[in-house]
Amino acid sequence: MSKQGDAKKYDVVIIGAGPGGYVAAIRCAQLGLKTACVDRWLGVDGNPVLGGTCLNVGCIPSKALLESSGRYDDINHSFADHGITASGVKLDLAKMMSRKDKVVNDLTQGIAGLFKANGVMWLQGSGKLLPKQQVQVTAHDGKESVLDATHVILAPGSSSVEIGAAPLEEGVIVDSSGALTFDEVPKRLGVIGAGVIGLELGSVWRRLGSEVVLLEAQDTFLGVADEQIAKEALRQFKRQGLDIRLGARVVSCESGKKGVAVNYQDGKGDHTETVDKLIVAVGRRPNTQGLAADEVGLLLDEWGFVHVNDQCRTNQPSVYAIGDAVRGPMLAHKGSEEGMMVAEVIAGQKAEMNYDIIPSVIYTHPEIAWAGVTEQALRAAGTEYNVGSFPFAASGRARAAGDSSGMVKVIADANTDRVLGVHIIGAHCSELIAQAVIAMEMGASSEDLAMTVFAHPTLSESVHEAALAVDGRAIHVPNKKKR
Ligand code: FAD
Ligand code: AMP
Repeated sequence: MSKQGDAKKYDVVIIGAGPGGYVAAIRCAQLGLKTACVDRWLGVDGNPVLGGTCLNVGCIPSKALLESSGRYDDINHSFADHGITASGVKLDLAKMMSRKDKVVNDLTQGIAGLFKANGVMWLQGSGKLLPKQQVQVTAHDGKESVLDATHVILAPGSSSVEIGAAPLEEGVIVDSSGALTFDEVPKRLGVIGAGVIGLELGSVWRRLGSEVVLLEAQDTFLGVADEQIAKEALRQFKRQGLDIRLGARVVSCESGKKGVAVNYQDGKGDHTETVDKLIVAVGRRPNTQGLAADEVGLLLDEWGFVHVNDQCRTNQPSVYAIGDAVRGPMLAHKGSEEGMMVAEVIAGQKAEMNYDIIPSVIYTHPEIAWAGVTEQALRAAGTEYNVGSFPFAASGRARAAGDSSGMVKVIADANTDRVLGVHIIGAHCSELIAQAVIAMEMGASSEDLAMTVFAHPTLSESVHEAALAVDGRAIHVPNKKKR
C-alpha cells in the first residue's frame, strides 16, 4: 500500500478517491503521468479506505443489501409459485450486514491494489487547493505538506443533505449511510423523500419485514422518469406494500420513547406519523466547502457545485473538477467517465463524453432504467416521435421466471427514426438498458434494433419487440399502429 512519499512534485494531483477520482488517477497513471490521489475517507474500523461514497456507503453496500433482501423476499413470497416449500426460514441480519461489509472491503482493497499496480501515490488525509496548482494535504495525524502539481483534478463528491425538520439522531433518525447499518429490522420505518435512494433503502427494509411509509413533498412521483413508467412503478410499489404518500412535506419531528413522531403537511392539512426509525433521503450536496483556498478564486455555482465546461475545466487554468461535485446527474458512472475524459485531455488527447446518453437505474423490484429523453420532454419540446412498447407479460423468458411485470418502451424520432429514448421497468433492466445505450451511442434507428437478431428466450427480446412495435410490427402483442 502506498504511503505518504517524499516526492512532492506530480504531473497530476487528484482530490477525492471515489469513482470519479480513483478512475481518473488510474487513467492518468496509465497515460504515463506521475499521479497522486488524496482522500480523507476513514472506514468503519477507522482506517483510511479508497472508493468514496460509492464503494463505502453508496452503490455497492446498497446493492449488496438489495440482493440479500431480495432473496429473503423471494423465499418468503415467490418460491411457493415454483413449487418450492421452505420452512424455518430465518433472517440473520448480522450475517447479512457482515456479508455486505466484506463485499465493500474486498472492493476497496481492490482499488488499493490497482493504485499500487499502476503506481498511483495514495495520500491519506484532507486536500485543499492552493493557488498555482499547489495542494495542501493535512494527514489524519494533523501533519501538513504541500504538493506541486502541473494539473489538479477535484473529485470531492457529495454528502447527504440534512434538513432542520429532521435532525439526525444516531441509530434513530439517519441518513442513507445509517440506513445501511441498522442492527435490527424496524417495525415501522419512515423515509423522507421518495427519490432513488429513498425507494431503494425503503425496499430493502420492507423486504426484511418493516412497514414502510415514504413521505414525498412533490405531488409527482419520480418526476425524472418517463411518466408512463413512473405511473407503473407507483402501482407496483404500492402493491408490494410500500406506503408512498405524495404531496407530503415533513415539517418537524419529535423523537421519544415511543419512536419518532414525524409531522407533515399535505393538501388535506397537518398529520403525524409515528415510526420506530426514520431515514432522511432528501438529496445530496457537493463537498466543496473549504475545498479551495479563497485566494484561488475557484468559481462555484449558487448550489456549491464547481463551475465547469463540457470538458470539466474549471475557471482556473489546469484545474479540473468531476463527479458529484459538478453539474449533471449524481451517478458513479458519470463521474468515472468524466475522470477518464479529463485524464486524456491532460495527456493531450482529444477526449469528450456524451452527456445526452447517461443511463439511470433504480434498483428496486421491478428495476427501472432509462437512457435518453422521456415522452413528456419530447411533447414539451414539440418534437414528433413514434413509440413502441412491449410488456414483459408477453415475454416467454419473463413468464418462465415468474417475474413478468413491466415493459420496454422505445421512442424514435418520427422523421428520422433515430432512437431518442428507451425506458424500461422490469426485472434485470439495469442490464437490458446497456443495449439501448449502445444503440443510441451508435446513432441507431428503431429499424436497426428491429433488424437485429436477439437470442430466444431472453428478456432482451422485449427490446427487439418494442423496437418492432415502433413501426407496428411487434409479433407477440397486438400492435396499436397497423403496418
Ligand atoms: P464520492 O464517491 O463521494 O467520493 C469523493 C471522495 O472524496 C470521498 O472519499 C471523500 O471522502 C473524498 N473527499 C472529499 N473532499 C475531500 C478533501 N477535501 N480531501 C480529501 N478527500 C476528500 N450511483 C450510481 O451510479 N449507482 C448506484 O446504484 C448508486 N447508489 C447509491 C446509493 C446510495 C445510498 C448513495 C448515497 C449514492 C448512490 N449512488 C449511486 C451515487 C454515487 O455513490 C455517487 O454518484 C458517486 O459516489 C460520486 O462519485 P464521486 O467520485 O464524485 O464522489
Ligand atoms: P432525490 O433528489 O432523488 O434524492 O430525492 C429526494 C426527494 O426528497 C425529492 O423528491 C424531494 O422532493 C424530497 N424532499 C425534500 N425535502 C422533503 C421534505 N421536507 N419532506 C418530504 N420530502 C422531501
